Amino acid sequence: MLPLPLGLPHAILHFMKCKQLFYDRPSLLEADALIVLSVPTASGQLVLELDQTPFYPEGGGQPFDLGTINGQRVVSVIKQYDRIIHTIEADGADSSLFASGSRARCVVDAARRLDHSRQHTAQHLLSATVLRLLGAPTKSFHLGERYSTIDVDTPVMDRADADTVETAVLEVIRDDYPIITHLCPPEDPDTFPLRRKPPTDAEVLRILEIDGIDYTPCAGTHLQSSGAILAFRILKTEKYKGMTRIYFLAGERAQDDYMRLAASVRQAAAVAGCAEDDVPAFMAGAMEKTVRLESELKGALDGLAIFEMKAVLDGLPGGPGIPGIEATVLEQGSGALAGFVLLRCTDRDYAGVARLAKAGAVCGRSTMAASLGDAKIAASTTVNGTDLGKLLKPLLQIHGGKGGGSSFFQAAFAGSGELSVFLEALEGPSS
Ligand SMILES: [Zn+2]
Repeated sequence: MLPLPLGLPHAILHFMKCKQLFYDRPSLLEADALIVLSVPTASGQLVLELDQTPFYPEGGGQPFDLGTINGQRVVSVIKQYDRIIHTIEADGADSSLFASGSRARCVVDAARRLDHSRQHTAQHLLSATVLRLLGAPTKSFHLGERYSTIDVDTPVMDRADADTVETAVLEVIRDDYPIITHLCPPEDPDTFPLRRKPPTDAEVLRILEIDGIDYTPCAGTHLQSSGAILAFRILKTEKYKGMTRIYFLAGERAQDDYMRLAASVRQAAAVAGCAEDDVPAFMAGAMEKTVRLESELKGALDGLAIFEMKAVLDGLPGGPGIPGIEATVLEQGSGALAGFVLLRCTDRDYAGVARLAKAGAVCGRSTMAASLGDAKIAASTTVNGTDLGKLLKPLLQIHGGKGGGSSFFQAAFAGSGELSVFLEALEGPSS
């Protein structure tokens, strides 16, 4: 490697345009450069500009590279017009290594670059395939930490379409097409059937070709053949601003996802006691059975509640009733609620007292049932047109309860103490 031109005046260094090594030599992950600008930040970091850089800056949907410069961790790389701004951690750094005019040893995080190149190359292939099979051009691309997305200009894309696209993408990965980089000049961009319009401000336009399948102007980082994508999966599609957003994974992300899904199916089969292939049929059967059993259980519980209410009503007034339920009848002092059967339940949750309140009405008695444990009440009336909410809300507000309803009313209290005071108030002054 040629020695770096150390000692150039800062003014000259500052106006040197940064050579984008990732553009011409995308496989280069380590390089020496010259620091042309070094500025400490208030947050203890250093901002560096270099005469050349292997670090890809954020752009075109692809996040920036990470790595180190002279051993210090790179935290961001962004492009501003022709300038590429590297920000590095400065804690513990030897400041003499980062002065303008110093040499910078740049090392790109290879695993992150490879992952980004896989997602990005897969995006080219996916976009070309969606255009070819569905006629929908890609409008935007985002490479995320967990998954990537493209937005394609079609209002609808169902799972069958996604499966067709996914299969076609996997065929190109399987057949390992070469990926060719064209630089214009010397080549003529008009000779390529470009998938989208090229930028007009590039001195050297780079066109990425997936061997005869797709030609796209692009400044990102890519693989050298489609087989290196390794694996691909469309996670889902959804409507987005009149278009369709496609979520996808490539490379090790897709492999890891397959492993995770396989483990889930294996666990589900073990729980179900069936073969892995039979899990969907088992689940469908289990769901059908659950719906039927829930319906039967509801019918049985409603029937039991009616049976219990009959026993309670037969025991009034002052009869034995049934354990866990203290039943009284509201007297004239309770105003419009006079004649209501009031149940204080010590061993029922809200669902249980709601069933009892409804059962009371079925048995011909307006009923209020209270769950002392849940600090909730349920009430139902047999008198058509009675609005229980209108009757109960004023008293409810006094005792901090909240609820609503008309012919069936429900309410909750802060605690069982508040509920007990409310019930005593309902019963009115003792005669
Ligand atoms: Zn690209």
